[in-house]
Amino acid sequence: MAASNQPASRLATVYNYGSINIDHVYRVPHLVRPGETLSSTDYQIVLGGKGANQTIALARAGGQASHWGQLGRADDWALETLKDAGANIDNVALLESASGHTVIQVDDDGENAIVLFGGTNQRFTPERIGELINGADSDGWLLLQNECNAIEDVIRQALARGLKVAFNPAPMTPAIRELPLSELSLLFVNRGEAAALVELEEDSDADTLIEALQTALPGVNIVLTLGSEGAWRLDGERGDTLYQPARPVQAVDTTGAGDTFIGYYMAALQAGFDDTTCLERATAAAALAVQRAGAATGIPTVEEVETFLQ
Ligand code: ATP
Repeated sequence: MAASNQPASRLATVYNYGSINIDHVYRVPHLVRPGETLSSTDYQIVLGGKGANQTIALARAGGQASHWGQLGRADDWALETLKDAGANIDNVALLESASGHTVIQVDDDGENAIVLFGGTNQRFTPERIGELINGADSDGWLLLQNECNAIEDVIRQALARGLKVAFNPAPMTPAIRELPLSELSLLFVNRGEAAALVELEEDSDADTLIEALQTALPGVNIVLTLGSEGAWRLDGERGDTLYQPARPVQAVDTTGAGDTFIGYYMAALQAGFDDTTCLERATAAAALAVQRAGAATGIPTVEEVETFLQ
């Protein structure tokens, strides 16, 4: 398919092997101290997890998104949000155990403290993974982050099946460096992930990070996002770089900016847009998201993004 700034007619599926979290968000006057019992002044339950956020972004962008996930049966309400966004949830299994969830305290200064329980996100079995991979169309993409178990098995099996693999190593851990990263079709990293991957200081400048990434992973297409400094695409084959400045907007809440960017980028790629257009669309969507509170709730629709792009 020729890359262009016009979308293609048939979309190959993006399968997202991704976390689904139930976020319990408590508003508190200050973060709880050891031994203290503190009343919260507000409580909300929202859908979270990088996996779910990226699927919602991909689906709202008009992409063909199939979520591969697991959730506790009691939390099946959370699937409505994925479905409403337009994602296929046929491969989200409901288990008789606790969902992945967080307990988040947010204080009056906006500081937060988070307890994360991996739950069902960490309970994928080899049998389930085999079924998911075998059921995938081999012309599709696998997208994944680092919030579910068996990441390495999933990547290796997907590659063996012929899927193209896009990986966002969040949260970053030292074990990520042992994965078959050189076989990825696309790697998405933010500043902290890039720095940790190439063992540089987190405040390293863009040029230093880019050079180190290209040296460490020659041949891999990499998208490096740098918050309000914009985003770069490093071409693995040609070795050249493309830069897309961020949109100058008033950020209200940057949570989920990266997930929105990745979902929109994957949808544009899947649709056959060229690299420049993929970056532009992802950047516009993320700029809209940072102007809104919340992660999943802040992810814009494709109509909003297209209006913003005009
Ligand atoms: P998060 O973890 O908060 O979801 P991230 O650290 O993974 O985000 P960033 O690199 O911070 O990802 O941001 C991703 C993209 O979002 C950036 O490349 C940019 O296009 C957009 N973005 C982020 N922050 C801003 C901002 N303050 N103003 C405009 N655009 C922004």
